[in-house]
Amino acid sequence: MAHDPAFVDALLDCKISNGFGNRSRAVADSLPYTTASLLAAAQEALRNGVGAISPTSGFHHARYAHAAGFCSLNGIAVAAQNLPGVRVGLLDLDQHDPDGVREIVEHLGLDLPILHGRGTPRTAERWLQQLPATIIETFIDCDLLLVQLGADPHVEDELGAGWLDDEQLRRRDRAVFKTCRAIGLPVCWNLAGGYQHDADGTIRPVLNVHDASLQECSEVWL
Ligand SMILES: [Zn+2]
Repeated sequence: MAHDPAFVDALLDCKISNGFGNRSRAVADSLPYTTASLLAAAQEALRNGVGAISPTSGFHHARYAHAAGFCSLNGIAVAAQNLPGVRVGLLDLDQHDPDGVREIVEHLGLDLPILHGRGTPRTAERWLQQLPATIIETFIDCDLLLVQLGADPHVEDELGAGWLDDEQLRRRDRAVFKTCRAIGLPVCWNLAGGYQHDADGTIRPVLNVHDASLQECSEVWL
């Protein structure tokens, strides 16, 4: 419903490259689970009226008929297409533009408002101040907000050009959760990108950003 069926078949059969540029059976086998996880979380957010989390990544660069940028299937478009009668919005706070979602929205003529947040360290404070009003203005007519809480806008992210520090990322997340709660807009969020490593080569710095998102979410939701 969100992709060229021939592309999906070839991807799941490992006949074409996935978003990582390989034909790994493990990646192919994970795709029904990651996409369904986002859909299930979206359904739960609608059910409880507040929100739900999908601990997944790797959706927003996947196009209608090809994988790209660590993204194989576009779980965002899949979720939106499987929620009939629900007006879904996308707040994408990953560092990178949701170009795959935009392409699918255009290809299929979907009504799916998209807001991508990106700035520089100099514009960060003003952007944070304006974020609640921007969310309300863009998504007031939506029934559900899908949110990509990427860790790669971090100033020390290894893909570069990051613009938010730890404390600003926390305020970003708090603003999303508080604003949506205040206007009664259910939120379904997932992890999205993050490329930092510590001295031992582990991704602990990325997990710290995701943990902070979870803490901010708990403060508001519970
Ligand atoms: Zn990214």
